[in-house]
Amino acid sequence: MGFFKHFNRGLKKTRDSVAGAIDAALQDKVEVDDEFYDDLEEILIMADVGIQTSTEIVEELRDRVRSEKLRWTYEVKKEIQKIVAEKLSGGDMDLVTIPAVLLVIGVNGVGKTTSIGKMAAYFKNDGKKVILGAADTFRAAAIDQLQIWADRAGVDLVKHKEGADPAAVVYDTICAAKARDDDIIICDTAGRLHNKKNLMEELSKIYKVIDRELPYADTEILLVLDATTGQNAISQAKEFGNICELTGIILTKLDGTAKGGVVLAIRNELKLPVKFIGVGEGIDDLKPFDPEAFAQAMFVDSDAKSDGKPEE
Ligand code: GDP
Ligand code: MG
Repeated sequence: MGFFKHFNRGLKKTRDSVAGAIDAALQDKVEVDDEFYDDLEEILIMADVGIQTSTEIVEELRDRVRSEKLRWTYEVKKEIQKIVAEKLSGGDMDLVTIPAVLLVIGVNGVGKTTSIGKMAAYFKNDGKKVILGAADTFRAAAIDQLQIWADRAGVDLVKHKEGADPAAVVYDTICAAKARDDDIIICDTAGRLHNKKNLMEELSKIYKVIDRELPYADTEILLVLDATTGQNAISQAKEFGNICELTGIILTKLDGTAKGGVVLAIRNELKLPVKFIGVGEGIDDLKPFDPEAFAQAMFVDSDAKSDGKPEE
């Protein structure tokens, strides 16, 4: 299956609600009017884009319609898509050093372990040598689950016993990576946000190890958020942002929600780039985030017969 088809399928629920609603709001209109701007704002808010970001998008659209003298509804649709792609841009991953480190954090159930397995497969496909560290030592099941993903992706895993010190697992993973010349180290962590003090201490111990063992390595601290939790994901990001220096977001389960607009709220309100998105449970269902493809998948109704252009 082609990239866009796959990607589009994963975003179907969001597109069906957003693109469909925009088309309905534009129906019978030759030129956009105030009613349309109000409808658009409402559609964006419904898709979890957030009030602040929705207002910004509508204001920007008004400016452009005025300054570029856009007239037809299809031109307006294209312009909305452009504004959204611009708002989502930036944040490419720079993993140049060998090794580079990805530390994956987030609350339980958001999709950390699954995303790590998918990323391992993704980087391996890209010709990189990947090693995983099972630093979620809280439950034995978490270690076993990561082992299954490591086997599936065909990469190595460093693990200790349940209850072991997560920083010690990270240390051993780094040593193994150095010895084997691995390109990318990806470490899982436990997500106990309800025990903030513990989590903070655990994470800062892990950073210290990375900093000491690999002081010049490109390091990403990726927070995993579940798109189906909507605005709750935003508050999780704020809380994690308070306890560590995040470099980006992995947004999972976009296939399970019509509220994929939360990507925009995250990018715009939290100023955090979305690096990967999860669009299913399979090993191929994690994609590097592509702002333009996302904007297109969100706004272009692939089932529509016409693109809204006036008849010649
Ligand atoms: P963790 O506790 O953060 O490590 O979360 P897990 O990786 O164990 O994932 C929790 C559940 O979410 C599992 O059932 C995964 O299959 C599921 N999951 C993860 N990512 C996605 C996704 O992108 N789409 C869907 N539909 N399910 C996902
Ligand atoms: Mg896990």
